[in-house]
Amino acid sequence: MCFLKRTWLQVDCDALEENYCSIRNIVNKKSKIMCVLKADAYGHGAGFVSKLYQRLGADWLAVSNIEEAIQIRKNKVVLPILILGYTHYDMVNQLSLYSITQTVISLDYAKKLSQQALKFGFSVDVHIKLDTGMNRIGLVYQDFVEDSKTIEQVQEICSLKNLNIKGIYTHFSSSDEEENCKDYTLWQFNNFKNAIKILKEKNIRFELKHCSNSGAILTRPFMNMDMVRAGIVLYGILPNSNIKTNVKLKPAMQWKTIVSQIKNVRKNSAISYNRTFYTSKNSKIAIVPTGYADGYPRIFSGKAKMIINGRKVPIIGRICMDQLVLDISEVQNVENNNIVTIFGKDGKSTITLDELASLSNTINYELLCIISKRVTRVFMKKNKILETFNYIRQF
Ligand SMILES: *Cc1c(COP(=O)(O)O)cnc(C)c1O
Repeated sequence: MCFLKRTWLQVDCDALEENYCSIRNIVNKKSKIMCVLKADAYGHGAGFVSKLYQRLGADWLAVSNIEEAIQIRKNKVVLPILILGYTHYDMVNQLSLYSITQTVISLDYAKKLSQQALKFGFSVDVHIKLDTGMNRIGLVYQDFVEDSKTIEQVQEICSLKNLNIKGIYTHFSSSDEEENCKDYTLWQFNNFKNAIKILKEKNIRFELKHCSNSGAILTRPFMNMDMVRAGIVLYGILPNSNIKTNVKLKPAMQWKTIVSQIKNVRKNSAISYNRTFYTSKNSKIAIVPTGYADGYPRIFSGKAKMIINGRKVPIIGRICMDQLVLDISEVQNVENNNIVTIFGKDGKSTITLDELASLSNTINYELLCIISKRVTRVFMKKNKILETFNYIRQF
């Protein structure tokens, strides 16, 4: 199967669908599902993926910023969209125009947003973000005496004009870790519930209360509340490979490239920039047109492998901006334009993102979203191409 592309991400739409259904099945029937599509749907392609999840019946989508939200609207997706991150209050007209829900991170910010909305005659939907222990954005509520003023601030936010308060949420810092007797996630959850309880006593109620990311969805079902925010699990990957779960998840993305040239080199040939690798014998090498500008980290030089004809082969010498070199001395029948698997499956061999992440001391999340826009996305169903998307040519 060759698409005559230089380097491409193969997105398995059946896997995306199955993963969504697996999550829908384990989440409380009454809880809604918010699909997190930030960073271009974790690199998979937010335009296509947003339409797919809309079709499957997702309730909400989430992104990190307003550009990502508008991109999804331009794909004619009508689901409610929550911006999880910061949007400057000067952009309130855009929020309103595109019907995008904004996260409110402080009383100050809420006032600014309200003033701008009032000035231009718009109203904006918002969710209030409580910081229950992540210590990133949000109104701090960590059950300390001094946090009682947060309750008053939330009350004040709810009284501001031209803001429609649609929900309240918090984010867990460690839900991908195992529970123990002093579970930090449980502490955060209790902080969140306490705040909601106190607000309720003051007659402030929220239609949508949510806290669970992938880690919490898999390990702490009692935290589902009104909605869960599913991110990495939708793409078929665990937030942490140590999590034990029976939930069926299938990685949706594979990265493939091709062989551009094959050469026989003599013993003691210096391969690639700065001669960091010399062949120890006469060798056969394959040049591959993928490099760090495609988002394949240069730090993988001399560490990672790729798969050709079902066999893992080492990368030798430095990874370049646009190319790298494989030692294929041990593999039979390699030809020009032969498919190379960067991660994913070929025959009996598999390279996982977790394997690659551990080589560079990072996590699967980062590797997914640093794959560059130079890499064509190919959306497949039952091994047939549904659509391709090339960011450089925009079609
Ligand atoms: C990214 C993000 C999520 C999803 O996280 P996963 O670990 O991928 O499930 C949920 N909520 C917020 C606020 C996020 O930023």
